[in-house]
Amino acid sequence: MKDIDWDALTFSLTPTDWMYVAEVNAGEAWMPGSLQPYANFSISPAAGVLNYGQGLFEGMKAYRTEADRIVFFRPEENARRMQAGADRLRMPPVPESLFVDAIEQVVHANRDWVPPCGRGALYVRPILFGSGPVLGVAPAPSFTFMIYCTPVGPYFKGGMSAISLVISEDHHRAAPGGSGGVKAIGNYAPGMMPSYAAKAAGFAEVIYLDAETHTCIEEVGAANFFCVKDGVLSTPSLTGTILPGITRASIIELARHRGLEVREERVTAEAAMAADEAFCCGTAAVISPIGSITHGEQVTTYGDGTPGPVTMDLYAHLTGLQAEREEDHFGWLHEVPDLG
Ligand SMILES: *Cc1c(COP(=O)(O)O)cnc(C)c1O
Repeated sequence: MKDIDWDALTFSLTPTDWMYVAEVNAGEAWMPGSLQPYANFSISPAAGVLNYGQGLFEGMKAYRTEADRIVFFRPEENARRMQAGADRLRMPPVPESLFVDAIEQVVHANRDWVPPCGRGALYVRPILFGSGPVLGVAPAPSFTFMIYCTPVGPYFKGGMSAISLVISEDHHRAAPGGSGGVKAIGNYAPGMMPSYAAKAAGFAEVIYLDAETHTCIEEVGAANFFCVKDGVLSTPSLTGTILPGITRASIIELARHRGLEVREERVTAEAAMAADEAFCCGTAAVISPIGSITHGEQVTTYGDGTPGPVTMDLYAHLTGLQAEREEDHFGWLHEVPDLG
C-alpha cells in the first residue's frame, strides 16, 4: 500500500497512477481500451462535450474488506445506468462486460491506493463524452470512455451526524421529459448556485421539490431521499425526474429483507416533515441522516436531532455487508480479480 496518511483523506481528488481510456467513432463498435499513466490529455476546442455537454459520469467505490479482498458494490448496475444515459444523450453505450472489465483493470492497477478496511474507499469515476469536434448542435463524431480513481476517506469521521436541509423555493433539479433520470454532466452545474446559497445560510444542502406541482420531494442535492413514519419507509418513486440511485435500490431491498414495509410513492414535503426519521443516500455517504428540514418559515426537527433507529440499522447493515462483516445474502459484492 502507498505510504499516505489514510486518516487525512476527505472526499477530494488525490491523483493515482493509472487511468483507462477507450475511444470509438460514431457507428463503430467499442473495442477494449488501455491503461495509461494518469495525466492531462488534449481535446479539440470543438469537442461535443465542451460545447454542448454531451457527457455522462458514474460514481462507484472499491472497498478493501475485512477479508482483505478488494470488492465493488453492484458494478453491473453502474454499467447499465451509464448505458441508459448514453441512449438518452445519443452516445454509443459501453457494453456491460467492457465497462466491468475496465473498472477492474483500473482498480487493479491502482490497488495500492485502496485504503485499509474501514478507513475509506477507492472512488472510481467512469466518464463517457463526445470528444470529437462538432459545430452544429448534434452528436459528436467520436466518443471517449475514460476512468480515473482516487482514494477517499470515510464520509463520517467520529460518528454519523445528522444534517440540516432547506427546501429550495426557487429552483428545481429536473423537469418531466428532461435528463434528470440519468447522470448527464449538465444536470449538476445548475445545482451549484442553490447549493452554495443554502450553505451560506448554514444548511448542508438543498431539497428539490418536483417542477410540476412544487409539493413533492424529489432529491437532496445529488442524493436520494427516504423518510420513516410508524416503521414504514417511503421514498419518491422513479418518475423520470429522479436519478435511480443504486444505494436507493439497495436500501429498498435490504429494508424489505429485514421485514420493513417500503413504499415508492409521491412523498409530499408536508408528509416528509411529519415523519419520524429522514435520511438521504448515495455512493459518497452511503446514508446521511437528516436532523432537520426548513421549508419557508416552517422547521421540522427529527427526534432529538440525532440519527433515528431505522436509519442507524440500515446504515450498519449496508456498510457491514460492504466490508464483509456481514453475509452478502444478495450477491452484491464483486471481487476485483488479481490480474497479475
Ligand atoms: C449519483 C446520484 C445519486 C446517487 O446514486 P448512487 O448510485 O446511489 O450513488 C442520487 N441522485 C443524483 C442526482 C445522483 O447524481
